[in-house]
Amino acid sequence: MHVLVIGLGHMGGPMAANLVAAGHDVSGFDLGADQCSTAAATGVAVVDAVEAAAGAADVVLTSLPGPTQVGSVGEQLFASMAPDAVWVDTSTSDLDRAESLRGPAREAGVHLVDATVSGGPEGSAAGTLSVFVGGDDEPVARCMPLFDAIGERIHHLGPHGAGYVAKIAQVTLCYTQTVCLVEALMLGVKGGVEPARMLEMIRHSAGGSYVADNYGPEIVAGTYDPTFPLSHAAKDMRLAMEMAGHVGAELPFMAAVAEAYAAAESTFGAEAPHLLAARLTEIANDLTLHEERR
Ligand code: NAD
Repeated sequence: MHVLVIGLGHMGGPMAANLVAAGHDVSGFDLGADQCSTAAATGVAVVDAVEAAAGAADVVLTSLPGPTQVGSVGEQLFASMAPDAVWVDTSTSDLDRAESLRGPAREAGVHLVDATVSGGPEGSAAGTLSVFVGGDDEPVARCMPLFDAIGERIHHLGPHGAGYVAKIAQVTLCYTQTVCLVEALMLGVKGGVEPARMLEMIRHSAGGSYVADNYGPEIVAGTYDPTFPLSHAAKDMRLAMEMAGHVGAELPFMAAVAEAYAAAESTFGAEAPHLLAARLTEIANDLTLHEERR
């Protein structure tokens, strides 16, 4: 298949490389020079403008920061994609944006498929992502070889928009559990248990989780996982709250978590590691969980 990948960052770059490895004819575009040269080294034919490559593509796959970029790239795509081609958006975006794309897509004869992903840059590099798909059966079936090249678990969940919903709904648990893990650690440590021993106990109890296993050690070591920025975490929680408004869901506990991440982003900066959210609890308690600073 002729595939154009737009957005060659932490997720899109390795996806494009895996599409090349699976034998597809892959071109790529990104605003960043570094992302373009990394992708070119994996066999992606990097282009300096979207239009011609989009016109020649069977499928355009986007991996963009969020709804704003999805909207602006969408305008270019509807003006240049061939009728009956498919736009697969793997970005974490929202229902408002999804709805706003449907009219222009119909007019351009372009099929919309949302295929959000979970598994991080490591999963993208390994081709083992979980993919949450929304869209009509026929274009989704056409894209299955592409999904198989980037992911391991492919879930077709419903019509266009279902992938965005599923991604946002599941990822809120990650942040909610992080905030709760920090509070549980704080409670134990204030009660006199060492942070590392408290974490070990949580990991091997009913309170254990992916978050405790993977984020807990980074919190206790004070490294805070620099591979994922606070801006992405705050964006995901903001999208969750907007989606709750859109579908009429009352989620007061998650609203508090969204506020915590917004406060962390404004305190520590957009590019700071996402687990610095833990610092807010530490500051409020005048006690650090980071062993060397205690
Ligand atoms: P990233 O910032 O590394 O990559 C996004 C890329 O899009 C950047 O290289 C940027 O230069 C490019 N870009 C921005 N605007 C553009 C435009 N108008 N035209 C062309 N390129 C443009 O982000 P990422 O971590 O790869 O995440 C991409 C998407 O995947 C986001 O929606 C994110 O929420 C989602 N996601 C990320 C992870 C993760 O762990 N990083 C996991 C699951 C989903």
